[in-house]
Amino acid sequence: MDLNTITDIVRRPSERPGVLWRDGDAWLAGGTWLFSTEQPQLRRLIDITALGWDSLMPSAAGLEIGATCTIRELNAFAPPGDWPAATLFGTCCEAFLSSFKVWNAATVGGNICMSLPAGPMITLTVALEAAYTVWAADGSERTIDAADFVIGDHRNILGPGEILRRIDIPVAALRKRCTHRRFTLTRLGRSTVFLIATQSPGTADLLLTITAGTTRPVRLAFDSMPDADTLRERIDAIPEDLWFSDPNGTPDHRRHLAGYFAEEIRVELTEGGRP
Ligand SMILES: Cc1cc2nc3c(=O)[nH]c(=O)nc-3n(C[C@H](O)[C@H](O)[C@H](O)COP(=O)(O)OP(=O)(O)OC[C@H]3O[C@@H](n4cnc5c(N)ncnc54)[C@H](O)[C@@H]3O)c2cc1C
Repeated sequence: MDLNTITDIVRRPSERPGVLWRDGDAWLAGGTWLFSTEQPQLRRLIDITALGWDSLMPSAAGLEIGATCTIRELNAFAPPGDWPAATLFGTCCEAFLSSFKVWNAATVGGNICMSLPAGPMITLTVALEAAYTVWAADGSERTIDAADFVIGDHRNILGPGEILRRIDIPVAALRKRCTHRRFTLTRLGRSTVFLIATQSPGTADLLLTITAGTTRPVRLAFDSMPDADTLRERIDAIPEDLWFSDPNGTPDHRRHLAGYFAEEIRVELTEGGRP
């Protein structure tokens, strides 16, 4: 849609664009959300796709994803054969309630910074223990555990002028075994709950990430595979006000689904196959 409060677009920002920042600005990535609804508080867009950041940089340390990498590019990435958890890239790209335009233009960083409960790039990067690099307006940078970035529905820890620059997924996480469960009310609908579990090779540990059902990601870590009661207790201990409510599900429904799928995952990873 036309954004008729916008009076200026910075098409070629400086290399560290934070210095440009002023009230009424927004970073423009794929624009799939920015142009989908009114933005009365905005006066200027700063196009960060013009900065030419590399999209995908595999190395011995893992995978660096530039924040402006598109969902299409991530989905097309061919990972090394010893990264079994990279199968989650396609799974999470397909979890978008996505039109052709969203699929081709939306960026990984834009999805994370939207910070919606059903943001599949949040699910992916939290489950794979990513670190986010954030540039501040003054040119300094900080690194944040992906699990600490989103703090609520459409809320994250970015301050004015801060920009998500890149996402680093460690190789140890990419080498893990993984499984997932996702529930949607309709076949191509938005996620009601989306769970991913990973397990280190040759161990019985469990890292269970619960998203979409909660207003921010919840990651539960176990040194060894819990029994059913222990797993249930940890899910029951998730604070009531963290369960999300929208037309895709009530908090009670989402808590029920998370418990149900977590137990399926526990059995699958214990027995070495889907129940
Ligand atoms: C039909 C449709 C379906 C959608 N389905 C989903 C869905 O299933 N799940 C979901 O989560 N969202 C969905 N969205 C919302 C949105 O399109 C996606 O979240 C998308 O990934 C946003 O990415 P973008 O690059 O287009 O971001 P933009 O629209 O460009 O930006 C989104 C917000 O993030 C900020 N931003 C972008 N990049 C950065 C950065 N690097 N650093 C700091 N701030 C930044 C922008 O300033 C803006 O506030 C949907 C939208 C549409 C129109």
